[in-house]
Amino acid sequence: MRKKIVAGNWKMNNDLQASISLVNEIKSGLSSMELSSTEVMIAPTFVNLHAVTKLVEGTAITVAAQNMHFAEKGAYTGEISAKMLQSVGVNTVILGHSERRAYFHEDATMLAKKVEQALEHQMKVIFCLGEQLEDRKADQHFNVVEYQLKDALFQLNDADWQDIVLAYEPVWAIGTGETARPEQAQEMHAFIRNLIAEQYDEKLAEEVHILYGGSVKPTNAVEIFSQKDVDGGLIGGASLNATDFLAIVNAV
Ligand code: PEP
Repeated sequence: MRKKIVAGNWKMNNDLQASISLVNEIKSGLSSMELSSTEVMIAPTFVNLHAVTKLVEGTAITVAAQNMHFAEKGAYTGEISAKMLQSVGVNTVILGHSERRAYFHEDATMLAKKVEQALEHQMKVIFCLGEQLEDRKADQHFNVVEYQLKDALFQLNDADWQDIVLAYEPVWAIGTGETARPEQAQEMHAFIRNLIAEQYDEKLAEEVHILYGGSVKPTNAVEIFSQKDVDGGLIGGASLNATDFLAIVNAV
């Protein structure tokens, strides 16, 4: 039985003080919730990771980074390595977010290298994939997601998948207020699971967590999370408000 995961991607929001306040609000809200089968993650910006990992020590909250570099170390000005993340207590990383793909030109080749580097360091990866609006309009959404999955992840072996969580995020639903209908999310999640079953096997496919991301809010979370193949959500905008984020955690 797969557990549920709710992960908040704070993107380039919240300075140190705002991060501390938000974590404290989330911590105090979670303390009265029953979370035995739900994992809660938050992904602050790099500069606030250290402070946030200290604040969540001893709680059920996992801290994730929003990105990392594919190299072990070296002359990559402005970049952050897996080892650096681990040195501040971060063992989970979001890779392949559509904003990284669009604004920083991260392609499947680069993402495959990042995934490999994360796994070499025994880090957990939340790997994002999802089609653009034009792809959906042209009825190409299944093809696009299939290639994103195969090109970056189908070189992995069975054991590697223990550390992979997928996040299906249709780009047209990110930050737009437009959410995929629950049946659209379910259809894509089932499609992804089926591709994994074909490439690997049914058992592995059944064990992979697939999150949905794209304008999840307290008002639509229950409906989306109730879909059979939706194992929780990657939350952007609504994760910046403790009340909304906690309501979404409660909905899972
Ligand atoms: C995201 O960027 O991962 C995301 C899902 O954002 P939002 O919830 O704001 O659509």
